Amino acid sequence: MDILRIIAKKRNAEKLSKEEIQFFVDGVCSGEIKDFQTTSLLMAIFLNGLDFDETYNLTISMAKSGEVIDLSDVGNCFDKHSTGGVSDTTTIVVVPTLAAIGVKVAKMSGRSLGFTGGTADKMEVFNGYKNEISPEQFKHLIRQNGASIVSQSEKLAIADRIIYKLRSESGTVENMGLIASSIMSKKIACGAKTIIIDCKYGNGAFMKTIGDAKALAKLMVDIGKKVGVKVCAIISNMNQPLTGFVGNNLEVYSALSVLNGEENNLSKLSKFIVAKALVMDGVARDIESGLRMASEKIKSGSAKEKLKTIVLAQGGDISIIDSPQLLLPKNNSFSIVAKTAGYVEAINTALLGDLAHKLQIINGEIKRQDDTGFILNVEIGMRVEIGDNLLTCYYNELDNIQEFKAELEKVIIIGSKQLKIKLIEEVIE
Ligand code: URA
Repeated sequence: MDILRIIAKKRNAEKLSKEEIQFFVDGVCSGEIKDFQTTSLLMAIFLNGLDFDETYNLTISMAKSGEVIDLSDVGNCFDKHSTGGVSDTTTIVVVPTLAAIGVKVAKMSGRSLGFTGGTADKMEVFNGYKNEISPEQFKHLIRQNGASIVSQSEKLAIADRIIYKLRSESGTVENMGLIASSIMSKKIACGAKTIIIDCKYGNGAFMKTIGDAKALAKLMVDIGKKVGVKVCAIISNMNQPLTGFVGNNLEVYSALSVLNGEENNLSKLSKFIVAKALVMDGVARDIESGLRMASEKIKSGSAKEKLKTIVLAQGGDISIIDSPQLLLPKNNSFSIVAKTAGYVEAINTALLGDLAHKLQIINGEIKRQDDTGFILNVEIGMRVEIGDNLLTCYYNELDNIQEFKAELEKVIIIGSKQLKIKLIEEVIE
């Protein structure tokens, strides 16, 4: 087989065989297929798509490109994954809450992709936290603490780690087959038998319309059915950040606020995911009782205590869990104020995510700075008056602050319509 023929086939919109997909994944992992050839095939896939068989075969080849963890001796484990959004920190709420209820969680997260954030990056806000642990350690921690949160590593879903990075750098992220195979390969490699996909739609998601999000959700549910794992997808709104806090430290702060009892969209969606997982696992008889169980674990503080156990077990510093105010930024800041009165009609969420990534650039190079980001004081439908503070930007260094401000001015659109956002659209199973 030959990678040039495979690239040409997909360029000509032909279907790739199971063997050709396996050859591609093997070559990516061994390094025999060069990055430029991989990105060339990714672009051909991006333009011409993958059908269900191709997506399924890519998922399985990527899942098996590393170790596939067998959790049968640990018990039935749950996993969740978001298709990507801005200020999307449900994992830090959902995982400890479920573990506190007694559901075992085997969570494999991703890093930031495109304009979205990544849970693996946020977990490292707990200084010293190790995302990459051995499969044996992963199993041991789930047995001992009821949960573990890891990322792709040298051993797990190796192909996804390589392809994920190349997609992010080659404009080939927003493709259904590539997203579904990336997510489902990680879920399969991690060994969980009950999986919830938080499938986002809107201007801050890779799928811009509900229709596309539903098609992506169905693709992942069908892959799950074929593999023999229970998958359900929640279609949720990403036309505005999930919370008003954007940036690694600020997003961990917002997750800790929910674990301390704050009620907002993040708490609503997180509790719904918990409730749905409990129903799928037969622990709760319906969503209402699942929601009650989630609220009880948060109210009693046991979800927060469980987070400490999970973080500590993977080498993270837990002091910020008791003192979340330490996460609030002390660096340079400026605010964007309303120039007209009216209602917040739209928030350009992807642009905000992009600008959050730009705050990480120092002297032309990306240098991770967890203390940068934005605090938004508004959400869609809110009334604002001239001069109201819409958002504050926290930064360490900006090359051209006027240009950056001008971009940031475009994020919040004020008009005359008072719109309402429906957070959870539907569940696909
Ligand atoms: N999350 C992933 O892990 N992969 C994608 O392609 C998108 C979101």
